[in-house]
Amino acid sequence: MNNPFFKIDDDILALGDKAMERCKEAFARTEAVTEYNQNKVLKAFIHNHIGEQHLVGSTGYGYGDIGRDALDKTFADALGAEAALVRHSFTCGTHTLGVALFGILRPGDTMLCVSGTPYDTIQPVIGITGEGMGSLKDYGISYEQVELKNGRLDFEAIEHKIKTTPHLKMVYVQRSRGYSARATLTTDEMRQIADITHAHSSAIVFVDNCYGEFTDWQTPTEVGVDLMAGSLIKNPGGGIARTGGYIAGKKELVELCSYRATVPGLGAEVGASLGENRSMFMGLFSAPHVTGEALKTAIFAGALFELLGYKVSPASDEPRFDIIQCIELGTPKALAAFCRGVQSGAPIDSYVVPEAWDMPGYDDKVIMAAGAFISGASIEFSADGPMREPYCVWMQGGLNFHSAKTGILLALQQMKEAGEIEL
Ligand SMILES: *Cc1c(COP(=O)(O)O)cnc(C)c1O
Repeated sequence: MNNPFFKIDDDILALGDKAMERCKEAFARTEAVTEYNQNKVLKAFIHNHIGEQHLVGSTGYGYGDIGRDALDKTFADALGAEAALVRHSFTCGTHTLGVALFGILRPGDTMLCVSGTPYDTIQPVIGITGEGMGSLKDYGISYEQVELKNGRLDFEAIEHKIKTTPHLKMVYVQRSRGYSARATLTTDEMRQIADITHAHSSAIVFVDNCYGEFTDWQTPTEVGVDLMAGSLIKNPGGGIARTGGYIAGKKELVELCSYRATVPGLGAEVGASLGENRSMFMGLFSAPHVTGEALKTAIFAGALFELLGYKVSPASDEPRFDIIQCIELGTPKALAAFCRGVQSGAPIDSYVVPEAWDMPGYDDKVIMAAGAFISGASIEFSADGPMREPYCVWMQGGLNFHSAKTGILLALQQMKEAGEIEL
């Protein structure tokens, strides 16, 4: 299709049209999941009688904040959980996950991660890295891990470990691939972990659900997972929540987390929502749709680069359980050009040029493209990758597909101008 607003060559536009053809079935599947989840969320609002009175905020202690309490209930229903704790005062996903871990685990307990090495920022929380910061390890909580086998869960090893680990309190699962090369866990794999755990132990199953919300028909807590958590500047904030996180699952477990989120005794009874209830409600309402747009963006990028012969993961026709698309671009020049293109098509900060930099905590330079209304929000279209072989870009988000599609075509245009692709 012709695009009178951007300089995109005809051969790239034509390839885009071809990619759209290739996306048809995957888009139809995505639309069906989106419609189901959008209705589920709508029903949660109606069921909880959400009214104007819930959208205003409290100050001070926040006693009797009916909006905050109704938001917890609506989120719980939307995520198929008994209870939820949704707070703008959770500063990010890592903080939210940390509150859940400290809320549940006690000295002498063992936490067992069954999905390989967890996401970078969780490692200091557990005590895998860092020292003297008050990690779980500092409080006498042991950590063990089952490695992945060929990039997938090793169910045999997991079952053995669950049967033989003393004082096992929590089986920890990371759903999304994060910035690793492994596959995202499927809903069925999460169900299997829950089944195995509950058959052989009294441990609870906890899922890091970041990037996974509203991507599939069922949520982790609907397939046997006891507790999960995520960030509101990813899928469940719908691109509208300005900050925050959620913890959802069994009522008694969410309550324990509330005593860590504030203090023992007070729990969820305090916490002024200030002016944030409206944007968190509105964000939840938009979340299934926006997640669907992000999924379509990922599928389209996958299809486009498949047509060019690149290795992409997941493939455009594969089922998806998060919003992340990985493309192996092969050269540093291609990775930089891709990020320049994405940045140039962002609604915010389109005029800046991303440069690879020495990001704290990483061995290689990292390049990032993001032009977001909410700083760091990766439900908004963004792309990044470390400057190392095989020069993969991880891209995610897209508040609306039409705009993100242009961003991807601009990325290809930049790659062409850099001499990295021939059409
Ligand atoms: C985003 C993410 C987190 C949390 O990261 P924050 O940047 O702290 O929000 C944790 N785990 C996974 C898999 C993630 O994708």
